[in-house]
Amino acid sequence: MKGVSSTKPAQRMEGLPPYLFLELDRIVERQRKAGHDVINLGIGDPDLPTPDHIVQAMKDALDVTENHRYPNYLGSNAFREAMADWYRTRFGVELDPVEEVVGLIGSKEGIAHLIWAWAGPGDVVLVPDPAYPVYQTVTMLSDATPYPLPLVRENRFLPDLRAIPESVLAKAKMLWLNYPNNPTGAIAPREFLAEAVELCRRWDILLCHDAAYAEMGYDGYRAPSVLEIPGAKEVAVEFYSFSKPFNMTGWRIAAAVGAAPAIVALGQLKSNLDSGPFTAVQDAAIAALRENPQAVFDRMNAIYQARRDLVISRLQAMGIPAEAPAATFYVWFPAPRGMTSAQASAFFVEKANVVVTPGRAYGEHGEGWLRIALTVEEPRLKEALDRMARALAD
Ligand SMILES: *Cc1c(COP(=O)(O)O)cnc(C)c1O
Repeated sequence: MKGVSSTKPAQRMEGLPPYLFLELDRIVERQRKAGHDVINLGIGDPDLPTPDHIVQAMKDALDVTENHRYPNYLGSNAFREAMADWYRTRFGVELDPVEEVVGLIGSKEGIAHLIWAWAGPGDVVLVPDPAYPVYQTVTMLSDATPYPLPLVRENRFLPDLRAIPESVLAKAKMLWLNYPNNPTGAIAPREFLAEAVELCRRWDILLCHDAAYAEMGYDGYRAPSVLEIPGAKEVAVEFYSFSKPFNMTGWRIAAAVGAAPAIVALGQLKSNLDSGPFTAVQDAAIAALRENPQAVFDRMNAIYQARRDLVISRLQAMGIPAEAPAATFYVWFPAPRGMTSAQASAFFVEKANVVVTPGRAYGEHGEGWLRIALTVEEPRLKEALDRMARALAD
């Protein structure tokens, strides 16, 4: 007799926080069923297609029958060499393609698996708040303890590393950073990254940098790699994703690069769980890196920058003190009229049929903030902001 426990998920699932988008989804569904035209500004997923030359490279790669077999678990040699070449050209960082690069089925996969490979019971994982939720949820699934690092406007959405108690640093195994940042749109000055590297070297902490938005920047801004900091490669791993810069979210391709012990541990765990990214997708990613990637970034950044400027000026016209982000395709702004982020988000769905993400979904310190994703074409963005302005004026 196993009783009811055999009909329930494992206990570790109970620690997962409630999914705050769920209530929003219900409201959206209700509005759509009632025949309303809902504009969704909540999705951090590029609306424009993958560039043609990358799609063509994939088509060509599909004709190579060798590609139909199991991929190399850790990424093909050609893909890992292309990543190493790219880091040299783009960041001036030298990587050993065998020891210091691993191919991923999207960086989300690698982020989750690295936490599982590196942290366990008794370990602390330093996690920004607000943040991409995976850092915290997988820390909890790994039975390690997340320690929140508040990202507040007064500190330009950088964690105050000096405020972390020594007792916490002594137990910390990983420090997660993500710049340019989702959801705040903030960027990290090189001095901050250097401070983080220095802290991690002193306390023997693995510095994990999620660089999903590394190629997204406005007014000429180009984000650095954390591996550019001298001495970083001994303590730091960086996640480089093709998803956002090349409009390739559906393809599932990324790489983790940096500190060999972490890359090895990640590869070892992964080889027991998956079989690496589809080789044809890796071939397409190689084409993305080899065939003038900067032209793709420039074109996309110009589009997002125009959308950003439109959103910022409209929000400011509503009396909302929104600041233009230097990077990412997110605009992070305070909820109007002192509403909580959930109240404001529900207000805009109900009164304007516009979905904006409640900042609270990214952590406690996201409370009182909202996020707009610039992944909607300009006429629809204008329409959404007109409606939001009307709702607020009522
Ligand atoms: C979108 C996003 C990811 C996921 O990237 P994939 O490579 O598509 O898995 C990771 N981190 C952050 C902060 C993101 O916004």
